[in-house]
Amino acid sequence: MEAERPATRFAPSPSGRLHVGHVLAAVEARRLADELGGVCRLRIEDIDGQRCRPEYAALLLDDLAWLGLSFDGEVSVQSARMDVYRQALEKLKAMGVLYPCFCTRKRIAERLAEMPRAPHGSACDMYPGTCRSMEADERAARLAEGEAHAWRLDCCRVQDMTGELEWLDLNAGPQVCEPSRLGDVILARKDFPVSYHLAVTVDDAEQGITHVTRGADLFESTHVHRVLQALLGLPVPVWKHHGLLCDENGKRLAKRDGARSLESLRSAGMEPGRLLASIEKALAQGGVWKME
Ligand SMILES: [Zn+2]
Repeated sequence: MEAERPATRFAPSPSGRLHVGHVLAAVEARRLADELGGVCRLRIEDIDGQRCRPEYAALLLDDLAWLGLSFDGEVSVQSARMDVYRQALEKLKAMGVLYPCFCTRKRIAERLAEMPRAPHGSACDMYPGTCRSMEADERAARLAEGEAHAWRLDCCRVQDMTGELEWLDLNAGPQVCEPSRLGDVILARKDFPVSYHLAVTVDDAEQGITHVTRGADLFESTHVHRVLQALLGLPVPVWKHHGLLCDENGKRLAKRDGARSLESLRSAGMEPGRLLASIEKALAQGGVWKME
């Protein structure tokens, strides 16, 4: 049998113009693919209809062409794949690992305020599990009445089903999977039929991604993605969570920093080669990016 060809992906959301942070992510994905003699796919992550716009998707492709970064194969567009995500969601529901949560944001905040502080503090904005142990009758009645709800992943249940799982990060080494790191995450809700977690997991498998490169801010999410792979019977890639760009004060560059959008850099006369060189330099200097 022919060995699987290594594949990475760059997966931006068209919620605004590309930013230098995106360029770093694209460079990381392209470079790892080249090192492995593999391919680098492009995916437009536009499931958030409130924030994403088709005109930004077009501009994103234009910015990538300007940078001279190329991608292999067809461009995958998440908004065209909602049925596939729905099927995955139904499969998880049928496995009994999801439960409906009827809490409002306000209700969750109130519950958290009543609870004793978690010793490590990191759980402070996690869901307190209010609806996890709801009686089946009440659950059925409230669903039948059409009460607004989200579908949450029952992390304890999942862990019992999958047993101990591991995953590998090329920078951080082997990791023992802890699906409860982010609490019982939402996988779907009324105004947002599929969450980031479910869509990327399904798409990485669909696109044959063997090496997932992404920012270190998504490290915790990987625990969730690893259990979703186990539940849905999907292949398990390896991950490479890379550092993020920051300014000279160590503050992470964010989209709100308009000066670092490709729109403003291009209109200020920045050349693509110079921009790519400045990203390489930042990588060599612990992520500190300066416009040279
Ligand atoms: Zn709830």
